[in-house]
Amino acid sequence: MAAAVTLAARGVSVTVFESGPVPGGRARRVTTEGRELDNGQHILIGAYTELLRLMREVGVPSAALLRKPLEMRYADGFRLRGAAALLYCRRIPFRERVDAVRFMIGLKRNSFRLPEDISVNTLLQQYRQNGVIGHYVWRPLCVSALNTPPDRASAQVFATVLRDSVAGASGASDFLLPRVDLSRLFPEPACAFVARSGGAVRLNAPVRDLAALRKEFDAVIVAVGPHQLKTLLPGLGPDYEYQPIYTCYLQYPEQVQLPFQMLGFSDGLVQWAFDRAALTGERGLIACVISAQGDHQQMTHEELAANCHRELKGAIRDLPDPQWSRVIAEKRATIACVPGMKKPDFKLAAPGLFLAGDYLDPDYPPTLEAAVRSGIRAAELISGTIANS
Ligand SMILES: Cc1cc2nc3c(=O)[nH]c(=O)nc-3n(C[C@H](O)[C@H](O)[C@H](O)COP(=O)(O)OP(=O)(O)OC[C@H]3O[C@@H](n4cnc5c(N)ncnc54)[C@H](O)[C@@H]3O)c2cc1C
Repeated sequence: MAAAVTLAARGVSVTVFESGPVPGGRARRVTTEGRELDNGQHILIGAYTELLRLMREVGVPSAALLRKPLEMRYADGFRLRGAAALLYCRRIPFRERVDAVRFMIGLKRNSFRLPEDISVNTLLQQYRQNGVIGHYVWRPLCVSALNTPPDRASAQVFATVLRDSVAGASGASDFLLPRVDLSRLFPEPACAFVARSGGAVRLNAPVRDLAALRKEFDAVIVAVGPHQLKTLLPGLGPDYEYQPIYTCYLQYPEQVQLPFQMLGFSDGLVQWAFDRAALTGERGLIACVISAQGDHQQMTHEELAANCHRELKGAIRDLPDPQWSRVIAEKRATIACVPGMKKPDFKLAAPGLFLAGDYLDPDYPPTLEAAVRSGIRAAELISGTIANS
């Protein structure tokens, strides 16, 4: 949709083919048992400048996102508000706080480029950041941003995330929590923008024959997920390894609330719990997020929901049993973000054929912003090609 909006805004006639009934792909609304949910709780940060710009361009009101300064608050009482609070947080031993300054200065001195790509755990060890600060700050940040366990995650990509968030411009590390479902947040307003600009969006329209499409259109952007690429372009790109994200929705009586909109859990399965009443107005609904691989993958959905409920009980006094629960397991949520990854080129050897998707960005982890940037880049390459032809 980022590619389509960018082209439509430049007066290019675009047609979007989407195989699903709802736009949004891995960030979309799903309807289950008569209820509308997201396929997974998402969070944006202030550094997502291109996505935020396109949202404005297609007319999404700023109220669609709840903007909060960086704050990590845990069920066990650990709390950190703003990046500078790292220096004053009493729960972090003094030595680790001093080393945290060395860590950030060390990364900054080398413009956040590492001499060689290593794992995030090794990087944290090098800077003695694997104690309390690693437990509550760096490792959760790594799992949330890279969706890869810190012992396997790329330190280079992690350093890029730190550069653009914690060490970024003012507001870059703000959390932006969606107040509408994910399809309404950008994809549907983007579809409406494309239609208003004279283009077309065809839902329930899977592309099976790329060659036929290439005859019909001047240029084609293949913007499918990395796991869907093989059916359209066999033999392209490496065999990626994937990481899952599980979201467990638990519906409690309406008066049940979390003590904070986004509450961290540091010692169990759940990493973050979101109070949907405070975000989307869905009272009593709590979304528990478990990113990256782990033991939870061996559990049934009932066992997983029971575990999430048990962990929430530690944070909410007198929590009654849930009235309803639903686990959404996205088994291939993103590619694993491991050291030294090779990414295919945006521009394929074939003329008029381009790629877009979250797995392509050379620096960024596979996120909404990476997907958007790749879409814009593909659109720019196409407008250049059309202008020159
Ligand atoms: C549960 C979960 C939680 C996440 N949390 C976050 C988060 O908090 N923050 C964040 O930034 N990112 C998050 N992500 C990652 C983010 O959702 C993805 O990076 C992003 O949505 C990828 O967008 P994309 O356009 O590259 O690919 P996709 O969203 O996968 O889009 C590809 C589209 O192509 C369509 N398609 C496939 N094959 C065909 C075909 N043959 N013909 C026509 N259409 C086809 C698909 O239906 C799909 O709509 C999360 C992902 C998941 C799954």
